[in-house]
Amino acid sequence: MEKNLSNKLIITAALTGSSISKADTKYIPITPEEIADSGIGAWKAGASVLHIHARDPATGLGTQDVKIFKQVVDILRKETDAILCLTTSGIPGRNLPTEERLQPLALNPEMVSFDAGSVNMRDKVFINSLEFLTTLAKETIAKGIKPELEVFEPGMVQNCIYFLEKGLLKQPMHFQFVLGVPGAMPATAKSLVYMTDIIPSGSTWSVIGIGTRQLPMAMMGIAMGGHVRVGLEDNIYYSKDVLAESNAQLVERVVRIAKEYGREVARPEDARKILSLQ
Ligand code: ZN
Repeated sequence: MEKNLSNKLIITAALTGSSISKADTKYIPITPEEIADSGIGAWKAGASVLHIHARDPATGLGTQDVKIFKQVVDILRKETDAILCLTTSGIPGRNLPTEERLQPLALNPEMVSFDAGSVNMRDKVFINSLEFLTTLAKETIAKGIKPELEVFEPGMVQNCIYFLEKGLLKQPMHFQFVLGVPGAMPATAKSLVYMTDIIPSGSTWSVIGIGTRQLPMAMMGIAMGGHVRVGLEDNIYYSKDVLAESNAQLVERVVRIAKEYGREVARPEDARKILSLQ
């Protein structure tokens, strides 16, 4: 990789997720226009990757309906050059059929999420069976989409290595460490160091800290030379008892910290090179 690229920081903004409601925070974007607007704001603030869920207008909850995804994606493709990473998670706990979860791939995004195993999330079970992941992996290869390997605990890295050996994932792989989900690996420095130790060499990585752990994990990701995801999907607060007012606000803070630390923020064209998307 070009030397000046290796120091650059990719910020991913997770705009809305599937389950946070307006009752939780009035700032959560729900309609396609709101989600797209929030994405434009985050991209202007410094995010080069936008992680996108769509919401069902009837329930307000996550949907994999490609028609709704398309409304968001069309606006973002017109207004930004951001890398779009569309979710394949559905709604954790609902166990949607594979075809339903894979609908967003029809829009040929540059990236999709690949939740590399099953995990308890407090009272919900987020099921990602070998069968589902095999189908998803094959589709990403067929379509030339880069999977973002979301790993919640070390066993999921082993799943990714298994898929790599089967030829269903390709190097260089990009891991997104999801730390601090209730029931999975805690968001601590030790967790992050361990996870970065066990991924195949040559991989890139980014870190998510859930809730109050978003900021400390972002700071560790910056300091350790990785990349960072922030956003309202993972954390709705800016500080104790103070709601974040936008995804952009959360991105702006990471940009300030990165600047103080001496890491330049990657723009999408840099991120494409770092992630081997081009
Ligand atoms: Zn997500």
